[in-house]
Amino acid sequence: MILVISGPSGVGKSTIINNLNRDDGLYFSVSYTTRPIRKNEKHGVDYFFVDKEIFDRMVKESCFVEYEEYGGYMYGTSIDELSKVKDKKGIILDLEVNGAIKVLSKYSNSVGIFVDIDNTELLSRLKLRGHTDELFLKTRIDLASKQRDEKGIFEYYILNKEINDTVNEINDIIYNRILWLNHL
Ligand code: 5GP
Repeated sequence: MILVISGPSGVGKSTIINNLNRDDGLYFSVSYTTRPIRKNEKHGVDYFFVDKEIFDRMVKESCFVEYEEYGGYMYGTSIDELSKVKDKKGIILDLEVNGAIKVLSKYSNSVGIFVDIDNTELLSRLKLRGHTDELFLKTRIDLASKQRDEKGIFEYYILNKEINDTVNEINDIIYNRILWLNHL
């Protein structure tokens, strides 16, 4: 099972994913990005942080299942990471909407979850992350609205009001899907 978690950046996807129950053998797919590393992030854990030259070379060498530009930086899911789904019961991808749609339409064993948040809350979260630049904040709010236009493509829609509720809801989805897959 490929679990695709999408939604506006700043919605809390990473925190949600970090709190999911991994007892079912779920693996988090580590993406490649050209974005600079943030405080508290680790290379190889949160992302593989690479420069544009390496990223472009990987594109040329067809290393990615999908890749997208988001907020001025490149993000991509490598074939290597996705192939880990064979060893584990499932893999979790944290993707912006365009990449999510590509994966969802390519793999029949994928499940899409759109996690949302209202704009006021999103703005305060982005500010908490240390973003103060007005143009950056406006770009992220505009991007969030664009991403919401595609939410109908996802099988599940969750408004992230309370982190624990959201985590529980996604754990239930995973549990039920794995149960269902095991009965096929
Ligand atoms: P951030 O810079 O906040 O970590 O991530 C920005 C956005 O990029 C988030 O919405 C995240 O879901 C998305 N993202 C992270 N990795 C990938 C990837 O490999 N492919 C795509 N398409 N989006 C990604």
